Amino acid sequence: MPTMQRIGSDLMTLVSRDRAPEHARYDFILNGYRKTMPWPRALGSLFKMHNETFNVWTHLIGLVWCVNKLAQTLTTVPCGARATAAIAVFLASACCCFACSATYHLIGTALPPGASAAMLKIDIVGIVTLIAGSWAPGLEFTIGRRAPLNAIAYLTTSAAFMVAALRVRVRDDDRVSMRVVCLVLSVCAGALPLGHWCAVATAAELRAQLPGFIGMFFFYGFGALLFVLQFPERWFPDKFDLWLSSHQLWHVCVLAAVVSWSSFCEGYVLESCA
Ligand SMILES: [Zn+2]
Repeated sequence: MPTMQRIGSDLMTLVSRDRAPEHARYDFILNGYRKTMPWPRALGSLFKMHNETFNVWTHLIGLVWCVNKLAQTLTTVPCGARATAAIAVFLASACCCFACSATYHLIGTALPPGASAAMLKIDIVGIVTLIAGSWAPGLEFTIGRRAPLNAIAYLTTSAAFMVAALRVRVRDDDRVSMRVVCLVLSVCAGALPLGHWCAVATAAELRAQLPGFIGMFFFYGFGALLFVLQFPERWFPDKFDLWLSSHQLWHVCVLAAVVSWSSFCEGYVLESCA
């Protein structure tokens, strides 16, 4: 009769794609999958190597960075309540995204299909929250100052897109397309106020603020491109099973976008109130 210890260690044995639970599979990632297991076991796999380890740690590190930055912002940023609130909303949305994502990748992907699908929805809520939150400083520093009523209209449109995106049914075989739908809808909604602002901003405003937007868009866009193309694993199957697959690179790009946008907003606020 197998002992509890034996069952436990057997659960932690990694399996190939064809033996992995269907809902946990990635295209072109052939090895390094965990079996389905109870959530305490999945939690215990935080310090074990498998094909979700890098996904979990990139966003756990992001969570720690953002919590620290949020605490700093709330206690030290010296330039008015509105600017502080806008940056704080963005950092709080990033904390939400990183916490949801790390939890989904650590626990959700190892749970049975029903529970895993529910946790995937939490992950998507986190992504949408971050994209919406990324616009809070932009609206406050740019279009919100020039056309507050338009800013409210954009936010309403953005919220409607997000509700629509979240209501799309999540199926086990729909992991990639569902996320892409969410991202495209949210980015389209977010691009409206930026386009409006570019049309009405002065040359000095464009010079001061456009680089921040470009930096954020570059990292979000580049990460989304790798994600959609499934680069590099599509071209090199089994070479990126544990490290540097497209999903993991997407996580790194999201972290880079958050750090870049946060640093720009902080610098811009400090400069404009100096
Ligand atoms: Zn992810």
